[in-house]
Amino acid sequence: CGIVGYVGTDKSLEVLLGGLKRLEYRGYDSAGIAVIAPDGALNTAKKAGKLSVLVDELDANPIPNGGTGIGHTRWATHGGPTDRNAHPHLGDDGRLAVIHNGIIENFATLKDELLADGFTFESETDTEVAAALLGREYRTTGDLNEAFRRVVSRLEGAFTLLALHQDAPHVVVGARRNSPLVIGLGEGENFLGSDVAAFVEHTRNAMAIGQDQIVTITPDSVTVTDFAGAPVEVEPFEVAWDA
Ligand code: GLU
Repeated sequence: CGIVGYVGTDKSLEVLLGGLKRLEYRGYDSAGIAVIAPDGALNTAKKAGKLSVLVDELDANPIPNGGTGIGHTRWATHGGPTDRNAHPHLGDDGRLAVIHNGIIENFATLKDELLADGFTFESETDTEVAAALLGREYRTTGDLNEAFRRVVSRLEGAFTLLALHQDAPHVVVGARRNSPLVIGLGEGENFLGSDVAAFVEHTRNAMAIGQDQIVTITPDSVTVTDFAGAPVEVEPFEVAWDA
């Protein structure tokens, strides 16, 4: 399982697929990506099976390249390894996308709450519950960072979680609890990864995110806070890697 996020110039597809390729060594059963196109539309592709199945799907049904995207390889824990259960999962009527590695222990309680509120679900995953919750909080707050903070504060278990919303076309937000997340710093572009392999082709300048922290990246900024929104200092380091 692996996670990659990118904000920068219109080459998300290459960065995401290249990053997922480098993360393949960790094992997975499905793969998927979400990219915000230059016209602002959010497009996704996801398939059970090897990364090559996703690449074939993208050859058959191309999606526009863009400057903002997230990519995921899944190791199924909740719901079998099917196209439908593959990530990304959508919220806010398809305007936001979420990817997740780990397990949301209290997903059943949250799902009941959302079902009672009229939400429907397309997958059996714990992850889609986080996507639906983020959609609901976004509708309430109109602010992706605030909505994301509210969501992760309610999640129990282990998660590396990334999200993007087409209303904020140059932003990727991420959070971690009991699961890894690393920032890659570029020039006019920034990266997120479940490990440095996700972006080491592009930059050796990295920052590790601490337990229960949230990161927001844009092409020229990186902000890290705790789950309450208070800023935290993060130390940069150089990745030692024989690529
Ligand atoms: N629990 C999530 C799922 O089953 C994420 C699994 C993973 O770590 O890839 O979809």
